[in-house]
Amino acid sequence: MASAQGREIRHTFCRICEALCGLEVTLEQGRVAEIRPDAAHVATRGFGCVKGLKQHKLLDSPDRLRYPLKRVGSRHERISWDQALAEIGAKVREIRARLSPDSIAMYVGTAAGFGVLHPVFAQGFMTGLGSKSMYASATQDCANKFAVARHLYGFPFTQPFPDLDHVECLFILGANPVVSKWSFLQVSNPGQRLKEIQERGGRVIVVDPRRTETAKLASEWVPIRPGTDVFFLLSFLHELVASGGVDRARVAEHMTGLAEVEKLVSAWPPERTESVTRIPAATLRGLVHAYRAANGAAFYCSTGLNMGGHGSLAFWLHECVNALSGNLDRRGGTLVGRGVIDFAKFGVKNGLLVRDDRSRVGDFGSVNDAFPGGILADEILTPGEKQVRALFVTGGNPLITMPNANRLRRAFGDLELLVVLDVLPTETASLAHYVLPCTAPFQRPDLPFVFPLMLGLQARPYLQATRAVVTPEGEQRDEATIYLDLARACGSPLFGSRVAQRALEIARAWHSRRSPGAEPSLPQEALLSLLLRVTGQGGFRALLSQPHGRLRPEHEESDFLGARVTTPDGRVQLAPAPLLEAARGLDAAFEAERARGDQLKLITKRHVKTHNSWTHNHEEFVTGEGGTNYLYLHPDDAARVGLADGELADVRSATASVRVPVKTLPDLTPGTVALPHGWGHQMATGLSVASRTRGVNVNILAADGPDRIERLSGMAHLTGIPVDVRPAAGPQDPRSWSGLSEDRLE
Ligand code: SF4
Repeated sequence: MASAQGREIRHTFCRICEALCGLEVTLEQGRVAEIRPDAAHVATRGFGCVKGLKQHKLLDSPDRLRYPLKRVGSRHERISWDQALAEIGAKVREIRARLSPDSIAMYVGTAAGFGVLHPVFAQGFMTGLGSKSMYASATQDCANKFAVARHLYGFPFTQPFPDLDHVECLFILGANPVVSKWSFLQVSNPGQRLKEIQERGGRVIVVDPRRTETAKLASEWVPIRPGTDVFFLLSFLHELVASGGVDRARVAEHMTGLAEVEKLVSAWPPERTESVTRIPAATLRGLVHAYRAANGAAFYCSTGLNMGGHGSLAFWLHECVNALSGNLDRRGGTLVGRGVIDFAKFGVKNGLLVRDDRSRVGDFGSVNDAFPGGILADEILTPGEKQVRALFVTGGNPLITMPNANRLRRAFGDLELLVVLDVLPTETASLAHYVLPCTAPFQRPDLPFVFPLMLGLQARPYLQATRAVVTPEGEQRDEATIYLDLARACGSPLFGSRVAQRALEIARAWHSRRSPGAEPSLPQEALLSLLLRVTGQGGFRALLSQPHGRLRPEHEESDFLGARVTTPDGRVQLAPAPLLEAARGLDAAFEAERARGDQLKLITKRHVKTHNSWTHNHEEFVTGEGGTNYLYLHPDDAARVGLADGELADVRSATASVRVPVKTLPDLTPGTVALPHGWGHQMATGLSVASRTRGVNVNILAADGPDRIERLSGMAHLTGIPVDVRPAAGPQDPRSWSGLSEDRLE
């Protein structure tokens, strides 16, 4: 309700990260004046972080995209929607006719997953074109989990999560929820949840190369050498088996493949792996004892494990720990949530997210119906019938987030058509032929995104609806409407269905007549309402009447095994053939790791004020020391290589090198260096603040290409990268550092 002074309070939720915090927004004269956490929210209960509470400042920027842009020479010029759609449509038709539907590709970034309609319509556009050339940000941070879950449980989105309300012993591997929040699980206030576990007598054990913010709140921190999680897990399983920790009755009833797993891990006693993990055998045995002694224990992992070079094997073994010990589908162990529908059953039945496409370059299998981002440059640069010549980028910024971004930049420069849909003119948008201005989260109605809605990946299950909080500006349009119009312009009806295209166009025309003066738009609330109704959740308006969310039934144990496993025989597959086959390479990987000895290894590190590449375009987020990223070194390593705080270092990998200022950090294990990602905006012509920051893009140090990414899931190797660090060569002018490219483009 608006006051006489034009002040108004609205309840909504944040769509930046998976915590999806409930928010209370104060509007003044129709603009966001203040954002507070929603103290009455049924699940997030008054939690919010600095990014969510200041997001309006990031978007209330003169740089905000408000009109369609076309690149003319080296500049972008404003054009009409009609011109943009017509020219894009004509080019797509021409490329499709000349080459192949697969020559039209799409890259879907993380932001797309925080709306319901955006990813559905983006996929519908590609389906209509007949193109399988989908690429997603998942192969930068989590595709290993999807690939393994499909093998083990039958569906990629079947992702067990720790029962935080009851767990007695929680292991956190390569994750820092206090800063990054939980992944594949919606939980607010992560620090509070860790304290609650310990207050009821439980233990939280963090295994990580850095004493992270999470480790500082945990019962125990176990330092580990970066990239060696897979060997830690092999020995953990070895000890679990050897100490009688396998729940054989439960495994026999619900699982297949125990013998193969036992055979594999028998070769990896803790004494063998301690030299590479740096975790003494006695310590590891103590950890297994703690895990076994608990009445409910769980392993949880995230990007530190996912991106470490053996992400699929490590996640497989991680899941085996929970399954073999009897903690899978158990109160206090890991649970498998229920969304508003049985999405795994629906997906398997309808072939959704379980296609088995093969890539042209490298013969990679698709994961979640998408190919690895790490081969996108090759798909663009390698001639052939299905060579990628046009690319749509939606909700992502691959030139900052993907491996070997310098090579990718050159590949993008070779495209005949690059179209970016975004809210700000990112580095990727700077190269685009067309940039299409989209609505931001507060400008659209929504439901909590696909994970909670369809999969129940929530510690406290609930539903919530939000209306648009503020109106779009200029000619901003929502992505669903843009894809509907692009489909018509390209002569390829959405989802390959002329009936669906026509029906949606009629709905769009009807809605636009009811909103004179506004940009044309699909009736988004009606579409969301339809989704709620077909899934038995009532309508959108009914949900709106509960502005702090509506609780859903709690998760239950014994609700998955024997009931919702979607493998062909309904049993958990502990030892899928592709994973066993890949495990044959572990001996060689182990020897290579030993041979590396004390070579420095690079990990990532996130600051609470940053979220990938999103938050660097406002002064408040990048003032003072916040105007760059730093290379963090343990003081012993800094002394050994001859560097001190504030000096510049050259960091060299096998792919490239960067020059950054140094900070010493005793929280790191010796031999580990850390460099935050998401920086390197100097070539973003439209970001007036971020382009003046000095940080470097750490991902140019990572390798791409079919021989440099993980074969099982297509994951890029973005952490645990061997590097050489030395004082910067030449003049030490702290005002002049920049990324130094030495990529491997021929
Ligand atoms: S933790 Fe911060 S960024 Fe994430 S949803 Fe909550 S307010 Fe938004």
